[in-house]
Amino acid sequence: MATHNTATRRVLLKLSGEALGGNAMGIEPSILAKSAKEILDIAKQGVQIAIVIGGGNIFRGAALQKAGLNRVIGDQMGMLATVINGLAMRDELIRQGGSCVLMSAYGIPSITTQYQAQLGKEIIEQGSILIVAGGTGAPLFTTDTTAVLRAVELECNEVLKGTKVDGIYDSDPMKNKDAKFIKHISFDEVIAQKLEVMDLTAFTLALENNMNIRVFNMNKEGALFKAATTGDEGSLVSCQGV
Ligand code: UDP
Repeated sequence: MATHNTATRRVLLKLSGEALGGNAMGIEPSILAKSAKEILDIAKQGVQIAIVIGGGNIFRGAALQKAGLNRVIGDQMGMLATVINGLAMRDELIRQGGSCVLMSAYGIPSITTQYQAQLGKEIIEQGSILIVAGGTGAPLFTTDTTAVLRAVELECNEVLKGTKVDGIYDSDPMKNKDAKFIKHISFDEVIAQKLEVMDLTAFTLALENNMNIRVFNMNKEGALFKAATTGDEGSLVSCQGV
């Protein structure tokens, strides 16, 4: 894996749209403010952060297709939704005193900067938070796949994937109370045990590029901070395994 060669930890946080919406559609200002504060606390520790932001709180192409819309158009709407979330998060980070740049792979020149990996790297190296919106810029992908893609391009140490549970289990902890927590697992073991960590495209991209994935509980107090700063939180998928 091509990671940057300094001792500084560089993480890519995948922030889903759902995480900004609470239980409703759209953006819940108090959740936005809380997430921004957590991200700034991490940046204050010297951790370099890029954020890939989702759009599921507004539109998802697959759901729009089910409602009768053309899938590609639905995905374009989904990508625009990620830009809306990106604008809101950048605004909140800046209002709380942070330094933040929003880039989008899905060009809207009047409101965002076109995503460029090299420029993005320079921005995070200078200590600013980089928000990457617009997904990959192409339909039929997810922001999980975007997260892995950007993490590889930006030479991050890990993708941080927030979920509703504490990490990876040997079965679904929402359905099985005896599900066993797995702290460290290899890509091969995830495949052998048919565990779901990310969608298949995202997972394959991570496997092929040896990009570590850390799964943690986005709703647990302090978990994001620990995952980003110490790396001692949730479950880690890496090529080495245990
Ligand atoms: N999307 C896309 N291409 C991409 C990334 C996202 O077309 O590279 C669209 C897709 O319709 C997706 C929507 O944007 O449903 C929002 O992204 P996602 O569902 O991954 O958001 P999240 O679940 O993280 O909120």
